[in-house]
Amino acid sequence: MILATSSLVARDLAAVWHPFTQHGQWPADEPLVIDRGSGVYLYDAESRRYLDGVSSLWVTVHGHGEPAINAAILAQLDRLDHSTFLGLTHEPGIRVAEELLRVAPAGLSRVFFAGDGSSAAEAAIKMAYQAATQRGDDRPLYVHVAEGYHGDTLGAVSLGGVELFHATYRPLLIETRMVSSPGVLAAGQPRAARAAEVLAEMRALLAQEGERVCAVVLEPMVQAAGGMLTHDASFLVGVRALCDEFGAAMLVDEVATGIGATGAWFAVEHAGVVPDLMVVGKRLTGGVLPLSAVLAREAVYEAFLGSPDSGRTFFHGHTYTANPLSCAAALANLALMHERGTVARAATVGDRLGAALASVEKYDGVAEIRRVGTMTGIEVRSVGARTGFEVCRAARRRGVLVRPLGDVVVLMPPLGIADDELDELTSVVDASIREVVQ
Ligand SMILES: *Cc1c(COP(=O)(O)O)cnc(C)c1O
Repeated sequence: MILATSSLVARDLAAVWHPFTQHGQWPADEPLVIDRGSGVYLYDAESRRYLDGVSSLWVTVHGHGEPAINAAILAQLDRLDHSTFLGLTHEPGIRVAEELLRVAPAGLSRVFFAGDGSSAAEAAIKMAYQAATQRGDDRPLYVHVAEGYHGDTLGAVSLGGVELFHATYRPLLIETRMVSSPGVLAAGQPRAARAAEVLAEMRALLAQEGERVCAVVLEPMVQAAGGMLTHDASFLVGVRALCDEFGAAMLVDEVATGIGATGAWFAVEHAGVVPDLMVVGKRLTGGVLPLSAVLAREAVYEAFLGSPDSGRTFFHGHTYTANPLSCAAALANLALMHERGTVARAATVGDRLGAALASVEKYDGVAEIRRVGTMTGIEVRSVGARTGFEVCRAARRRGVLVRPLGDVVVLMPPLGIADDELDELTSVVDASIREVVQ
């Protein structure tokens, strides 16, 4: 068994290049080979069990190997494996669009499919500009937010604000204007006051160049990859008002927050605002297959209507757009979420997380805990080069997989996690933090 693991690791190190991974370090970190998954647990090649504390990078909804999703994919495979969505359609795609619109904020009425979060963000970015252009406006600029993250393709990187990930590519990027993060606070500053401050900054910027801005792009409620930075809902209300005043589209990226993670179907619900464009991804298929989408208001869609030679077509799409297997998984996931009341359950899971971590937040080694629903970041005080990593490493030894963003230990359990499993997650994280930073 152990031999099988070491030989797989050796072959990996000889052939594979991993995402977001420094290969100069990784071999020394004892790469883990995941072999199978069941419920909230993953098992390594030696059958050691790990609780999947970040839901496989924020995607798993009900658990691994969910029978209803597996059955739906198999049934779809027997009917239609794939057919292009360029100029053709199919029932699973139609139904996913209908189901998304059923749960999305009222006012969003069109669904454009993509594969990953980045590719959907990219589509939305282009839509905003093209819609403005086709209305006769010259709006080549975007406003975005520091510490934001929208994916790794160049359009998405242009609107990102995480220096570590994005600084390298600056010379290649489209022109934008960045405002400060409403989630980065002065000591003791209330979040509502910070929201007002950043809104004032955004207003000043738009007052100067607003007529050239096609969209304001942001992650609602939680800037996830930026370190689970949370902001006050009034920020979203203010952005909506500024977008209306200056004629820019409000483009929200719900790839991390959407489909239940914040205890609502979509994070914008916490502020009661309806965006013009909304990007969803990650949890859409329950964490099984890639599928993402842009939801648009009718007015955006209408800006693209015209004759074939009008040049108003959205010349954008991907080979596997609306793959029927992914759509079947999404339909099964959304049906299960309705049946099980998963969104309400996620809110309860979030409350239980908050209660369990209340004592952890008092540790000297913990700077702050930030959480909206199930999306949780525990910022630990640095005690060495890779403190966040060391905490996650200690958790791994105790059978829990969590991943750091710098010195922020991220907890993002599958939404359907049971109480005893959640208690296992929080008690292991508690013990691991005490081991490393107390
Ligand atoms: C993960 C993420 C993306 C990118 O999604 P991929 O599927 O990794 O391309 C975009 N935006 C947000 C907010 C994300 O968290």
